[in-house]
Amino acid sequence: MSHVHDHENHVGRGPRPGITGSLRHDLESGGSPWTGASTEPEPAVTLGEPPEGVTRSSDGIPPDVLSLEDARRWAAGWALHVGSRLTTQPGVSFHGTPGDRRTPGSDRVTVELNGAVLGRLCNVRDPGQPFGWGYTGAGPSALAKSLLVAALGQAAACPGCRGTGKVTWLATGSAHPVPWEPAHDDLAALATAEEAEAVITACDGCDGEGLAVHPRLYHRLVTDLVAGRWQQGHGWRVSRDELLDWVNTTLGAAWAQVIS
Ligand SMILES: [Zn+2]
Repeated sequence: MSHVHDHENHVGRGPRPGITGSLRHDLESGGSPWTGASTEPEPAVTLGEPPEGVTRSSDGIPPDVLSLEDARRWAAGWALHVGSRLTTQPGVSFHGTPGDRRTPGSDRVTVELNGAVLGRLCNVRDPGQPFGWGYTGAGPSALAKSLLVAALGQAAACPGCRGTGKVTWLATGSAHPVPWEPAHDDLAALATAEEAEAVITACDGCDGEGLAVHPRLYHRLVTDLVAGRWQQGHGWRVSRDELLDWVNTTLGAAWAQVIS
């Protein structure tokens, strides 16, 4: 089947700098975003301090004692500071293996390089909870968000808080908060808000999570791939490059607004 391309659809949406010729061709020809040239995310935000307990020897599952909000911030910190070292290596792919349908949560998703398993994918939306695919719901949403964060690495950090999820309003500062730093804790640790030299709050830009991958982006990956192409009870594999291509193809010029 042949068809004529309507190039007007792409006016004003032009490919962002860095999109390679072959990917641009895919964009304009309506080709699948799952094939095409490798692209790289924008330069990373300089990360702030990781949450307590996020170390290279930690496994990506936050301590049980944390609230959901703190657990999400912890998992985001782990994915940005620790997981990204593995997940942004050239040639990395993500591999879903179906488990027993009668055992909820037995599906698993691993990070792989040249056939070797590097580790499990960190769940940044529902920490410690199972992933799912082939349908829409919490498990697939968590998978889509976690895949994008893993593929983008440090470029997934919220610039408003440098991935910490927290901002500081300095008493002597401007009308805008600054990304939280550990030294701000001392400034804020006075008896009352009136006496304190700083007030620390959750970052508005990311709802206190530290990640710039918003629901409108990862829900679309659910539609396009996680629920749209993958089948429940069946395995799948997607490369980091394919996910980055999808980000470029999907967002076009809007990329900068979502990721930066
Ligand atoms: Zn933020």
